Amino acid sequence: MATFAKRKHMNIRIGFGVDYHQLVTGRDFWLGGVKIEHDKGALGHSDADVLLHAICDAMLGAACLGDIGVHFPDTDASLKDIDSKLLLQKSFELVKQEGYVIINIDSTLCLQSPKIKNYVPQMQAVIAAILLLPENAVSIKATTTEKMGFVGREEGLVAYASILLQKK
Ligand SMILES: [Zn+2]
Repeated sequence: MATFAKRKHMNIRIGFGVDYHQLVTGRDFWLGGVKIEHDKGALGHSDADVLLHAICDAMLGAACLGDIGVHFPDTDASLKDIDSKLLLQKSFELVKQEGYVIINIDSTLCLQSPKIKNYVPQMQAVIAAILLLPENAVSIKATTTEKMGFVGREEGLVAYASILLQKK
């Protein structure tokens, strides 16, 4: 019983987020808050940063605050082409208002090309700075789909993120 009572008051919350965007020519490619050199970019109302959007959704989800579309609707003209780092900052403010701090983030990017390995340290630094975390609390992994499906045909990309929050 003592163990149960202790667990009940741990106040640790898990969150999960997923996001998809099309890849098209004529767009800058923003990923994890970093501009990537590529012949295509992600299409969206904002800068279409799929990784930051998945992290926002994971964070909002952990605090049971809905999703990114509720707080930042794509019908809002003021959000057109907005830097998703601002959406990440605003999502973080919302969970902080609920009394949460972030413990860690784990994420996976799913795209056929380009290889993003060399960009990962910069993405970690950008995200960690916004969320007041050490860089080793922001894990970013990447995979392809072995050329299968829309990701394999380079029509789009996906990001998955999970997060752990703790109530202070
Ligand atoms: Zn998105």
